[in-house]
Amino acid sequence: TVTMSWGYAPHNGPDKWADNFPIANGPRQSPIDIVPGQASYDSGLKPLNIKYDPSTCLDILNNGHSFQVTFTDDADSSTLRDGPISGIYRLKQFHFHWGGSDDKGSEHTVAGTKFPAELHLVHWNTKYPSFGEAASKPDGLAVVGVFLKAGDANPNLQKVLDRFDDIKAKGKQTSFTGFDPTCLLPKSLDYWTYDGSLTTPPLLESVTWIVCKEPISVSSEQMARFRSLLFTADGEAECCMVDNYRPPQPLKGRSVRASFQ
Ligand SMILES: [Zn+2]
Repeated sequence: TVTMSWGYAPHNGPDKWADNFPIANGPRQSPIDIVPGQASYDSGLKPLNIKYDPSTCLDILNNGHSFQVTFTDDADSSTLRDGPISGIYRLKQFHFHWGGSDDKGSEHTVAGTKFPAELHLVHWNTKYPSFGEAASKPDGLAVVGVFLKAGDANPNLQKVLDRFDDIKAKGKQTSFTGFDPTCLLPKSLDYWTYDGSLTTPPLLESVTWIVCKEPISVSSEQMARFRSLLFTADGEAECCMVDNYRPPQPLKGRSVRASFQ
């Protein structure tokens, strides 16, 4: 039998993922709709402690689902601590999800509001020996989510977008060094947090989600640049990389906590 690879088209998109990944209907799936009025302020939640070392930034890759910037993670150089988590989590990569137009594209929504894009900074718990081992543990991963809101051009984001000519097609990869992802974080690190999952197959229920309340800005021209990437490899019929987001999943009794009042 032929295994259809997953994607975001009608025949292999989010509504079909459960066929090959039954955890898609599990108890702690992501993303969710965050309803601020239903999130509970938790005074015990610590501020996020983020320390990124630009020298750990390695390369940028079109993986056919998104593009990601990858970091070397063999030491505690770029780390996330505190917030809702215990111990030390190392930055592995960051990537984005976005829409075919500015009225959609984020994975999380806030009281039903969609943003044009969402940034995910993926970290793994160093109580496990590797990202791969951590990815299947209930406390294995912590992902910081940041919404992108249509507005002024974002010069920090532009440094990333300027590399897109080299990674237009699926499988393309190029060196990308010295970038500090701290510059992509909003001024306020107030956040919502809940227990969830990867939002792409294998949809493992291993993610402590940390979603920033304050968005960063992106211009319409910059959003158009995201849409110049391709889902497809060289030699295939070109298919623009758009609408690579999973819609909100059922909360199933989970609590969403807020670090702020
Ligand atoms: Zn993501």
